[in-house]
Amino acid sequence: MIDLHSHTNQSDGTCSPAELVTEAVRAGVTTLGITDHDTFAGYDMALPAAASAGLELVCGIELSTRLHGHSVHLLGYFLDASDLKEFRDWVLDLQASRRERNVRLAVRLRELGFDITIEEAEARGRGMTGRPHFAQIMVEKGYVRGIREAFDKYLDESGIGYVFRREPQFAESVAHIRKAGGIASLAHPIRVNDDVPALMPELKDAGLNAIEAYHSDHDVEHVELYLGLAKRYDMLVTGGSDFHGAVKPGVRLGTGYGGNLRVPDDVVEKMRASLSPRR
Ligand code: AMP
Ligand code: FE
Ligand code: FE
Ligand code: ZN
Repeated sequence: MIDLHSHTNQSDGTCSPAELVTEAVRAGVTTLGITDHDTFAGYDMALPAAASAGLELVCGIELSTRLHGHSVHLLGYFLDASDLKEFRDWVLDLQASRRERNVRLAVRLRELGFDITIEEAEARGRGMTGRPHFAQIMVEKGYVRGIREAFDKYLDESGIGYVFRREPQFAESVAHIRKAGGIASLAHPIRVNDDVPALMPELKDAGLNAIEAYHSDHDVEHVELYLGLAKRYDMLVTGGSDFHGAVKPGVRLGTGYGGNLRVPDDVVEKMRASLSPRR
């Protein structure tokens, strides 16, 4: 079983990298992509556990990019070659912009009367502190009833606590991934604000070469739609659960919500076959 979209506690998941490997093996996953937000730390740390468990790991990352004024998630795969210093440096830049945003977000939330510090948020977020960590603190301190309320009222772009983050443009991000020899896949297209079929020519021009057709949030019709777009625009297909552990309790590794996900075996074979021979 294949699952190419998962998060560790190095971003906003709850499992440590080693725990994620154990969970994946227990769930029957044989190939696991780790796609933490803006960091490779979880993947790097999972390597020894995966090697001893006989689990095949795929190096991935999930980037938050800007497209037509909205945030669009972009997955990058096979970015583990040793000569990718330029790409990894660029990721460090993204982390710096995230940290700078988090400092301002903590100030803003304090202005709104919440007792929340940047130190508290960073203690939870480790390498990649994000809004979900702020949301968890707000829930625990009783300021909101749940993560959803924290986002709806305060943290979403429409929320009163929202602070701007400098995010890389979609096309720029695709270019970085492709230049590094990786595969760039449009993450959970169902969550893209704009009409995806209408966007496709532009995404193709930007160098996008894959679509995440299989995802826990996609029902059968969505999967068909995105498989059709991948075929039409001659792109690869990727897929995964978007497992985050206890913060997204319904989502299971490999199988999604109640078994609504199944990523075909040939997905990874086709991805590998598309890579340039130097790997
Ligand atoms: P950040 O990367 O810090 O800007 O936070 C973005 C992350 O917050 C996303 O990757 C999601 O995991 C999470 N997120 C965004 N919007 C919501 C929402 N409405 N409810 C719950 N989680 C959300
Ligand atoms: Fe996330
Ligand atoms: Fe995402
Ligand atoms: Zn994700």
